[in-house]
Amino acid sequence: MLDPAVFVELKASGNLPSPRGSALKVLDLCQRDNLTLPELIQAVQVDPAMVGRLLKMANSAAFGRPRPVVALTPEVLMSIGIQSVRQLVLAFSLVSGNRQGQCAEFDYEAFWSRSAATGVAMQLLGAATRVAPPPELFTVGLLANVGRLALSAIHPLAYGKLLHQSGGRFGTGLTGLEEHTFGYSHVEVAAAMMHDWGLPRLFCDAVLRHEHAEGDVSSRDSRVAQLVSCLHLASRLAELCFLQGDERRAGFQELLPLARALDIADGNLALLGDQMLSEWKDWGQLLEIAVREVTPFSTLDTPAQPAGEPVGEYRKLSVLVIDEDTAAAERLKQLLEAGGHQVNLARGGHDGLVEVLDQQPQLVCVDLCADRDRGLELIRTLRQTELGRSVYLMVLTRPDDDERLTMALEAGADDYLDKPVVPKLLDARLRAGRRMIREQQLLRLEQETLRRRLLELAITSQHAREAALTDVLTGLYNRRHAVDRLKQEWAEADRGMRPLAVLMLDIDYFKAVNDSHGHDAGDEALRQVADVLRAISRMSDVVCRYGGEEFLVIAPDTSLDGALQLAERMRSAVAQRKLALATQTVKLTISLGVAVKGDGIASAERLLKAADEALYRAKQYGRNRVEHAA
Ligand code: GH3
Ligand code: MG
Ligand code: MG
Repeated sequence: MLDPAVFVELKASGNLPSPRGSALKVLDLCQRDNLTLPELIQAVQVDPAMVGRLLKMANSAAFGRPRPVVALTPEVLMSIGIQSVRQLVLAFSLVSGNRQGQCAEFDYEAFWSRSAATGVAMQLLGAATRVAPPPELFTVGLLANVGRLALSAIHPLAYGKLLHQSGGRFGTGLTGLEEHTFGYSHVEVAAAMMHDWGLPRLFCDAVLRHEHAEGDVSSRDSRVAQLVSCLHLASRLAELCFLQGDERRAGFQELLPLARALDIADGNLALLGDQMLSEWKDWGQLLEIAVREVTPFSTLDTPAQPAGEPVGEYRKLSVLVIDEDTAAAERLKQLLEAGGHQVNLARGGHDGLVEVLDQQPQLVCVDLCADRDRGLELIRTLRQTELGRSVYLMVLTRPDDDERLTMALEAGADDYLDKPVVPKLLDARLRAGRRMIREQQLLRLEQETLRRRLLELAITSQHAREAALTDVLTGLYNRRHAVDRLKQEWAEADRGMRPLAVLMLDIDYFKAVNDSHGHDAGDEALRQVADVLRAISRMSDVVCRYGGEEFLVIAPDTSLDGALQLAERMRSAVAQRKLALATQTVKLTISLGVAVKGDGIASAERLLKAADEALYRAKQYGRNRVEHAA
């Protein structure tokens, strides 16, 4: 663990990678007790790229949505989880802000590419092992190596030399060199940084330990140990994306036992790897980092072939045997294990159902001899769930019990075996079953890819829509949105017979700011005034930049009194605020015109005009004041 005093020193150097820009506001909001979701959405939407990335997360398979979501709504944020959103925003901000640096030997592009692969692998492993929420796992994977980035920023020259010595490889060799040279290694720095950013201790500990997970046989004992194993496996999988030929093949073989320790069957690891490649490509686009073309993992997965077995068809299966007769279950387990399969046992009924959904085996053997109805019920219930439909179901029956067998097949069983099980027959049946399972898995993978392509399209058009409605300088809504929105709110107010107010406001003597401080300083002042307006208004208020230094606030469900109070709050907040420009601070004032829907104001256009006229009067009567339509 890094000495806290050392970390304070590193932090004080100002060289540690840290989140910046609009992400800071989101991070701050997520920590607040009184956070409202619309407020959070507004803060996130300042950065359309961030919206796209969060949507991508919300649409990942882990959430099992029937249809992709295309807009960031409170419901979508809640489903990701506020802490997960916070962590993602933090991580994405780090990616955006650290695409280059001082260390000439550090390949920043490859670093983030590999980190993204680790994040994706971690998320997929998480879905398979359920050790923590998938978005959080993604972040941990993405940031697991952030200590390397930090070291390259703190010691650009020295770290460059170490990278050179290790041949640019990110293995434990480099970690050893780091320890030897600096007295601490990248994982210690990363854990300290993550702790500083408020990430859960569990994740910091996992990052700290993840490079040495091979000896961790007790992976099921604790959550940290399981996370460590997942993270170790995820980063090794990511590493394989950068290797080729025999080296990659051998590397993959080394990972099989690590995956088995996490209850991931060999065939599933290859599928998981392929899914990672496809997800990686998506994230590469969203994070704007280069992603290599890599041949699928499923083509590597060819362990020693038994004679006569066609290449590619030999796969070890994960099997769940559901049988009340423990002796028979144990026998079948032994037979299956002798064939190299991975087998778990479960009791019938509800317990069996839970185990299937929890373990997600590829093959389930259900006994129908002991309690026929219970077994049939289990099959029917399973077939009603999405997961249960994709599992290969084999029933165990007594010979010549045709009635029972017919019922089982009607309920949804794929095949049957007579009890007691004859080893040779079991083998033949499994070979047929394996082919079906493999086909199904490939089909699912294809469907997943298709789903993702559709989603990409949706995200792209969502980006375009958002960009078209946002003012680039201030991040507020632009005039186009203001006009459309006002029409909508007018119709809404009509329907609900509710009041509607608008505030038109203009900065006083703004030309003078440009004249004395320059146009850039003028832009900065505009941004800061926009921030004040946004902070003062309610969530339901729509704040827009209407023109150069003119703003429109649409306040639904607001009477004249309420609108005048809001206007006065805005006026006084701007007047009091010292705006920090590049070389000095200035103070500005605004004039406001308020109008409400009602007598004599019978259309949205009229409402705007009335507010504009009131604003004109405010200017005439001396500025820095509020006037309302007569
Ligand atoms: P007043 O409204 O109090 O009558 O005086 P003013 O000086 O603000 O006058 P007016 O509203 O007519 O002028 C607006 C000025 O704002 C003109 C232009 O130089 C400046 N401006 C408009 N848009 C921008 C912008 O995007 N950036 C900067 N820096 N200046 C802008
Ligand atoms: Mg003005
Ligand atoms: Mg003006």
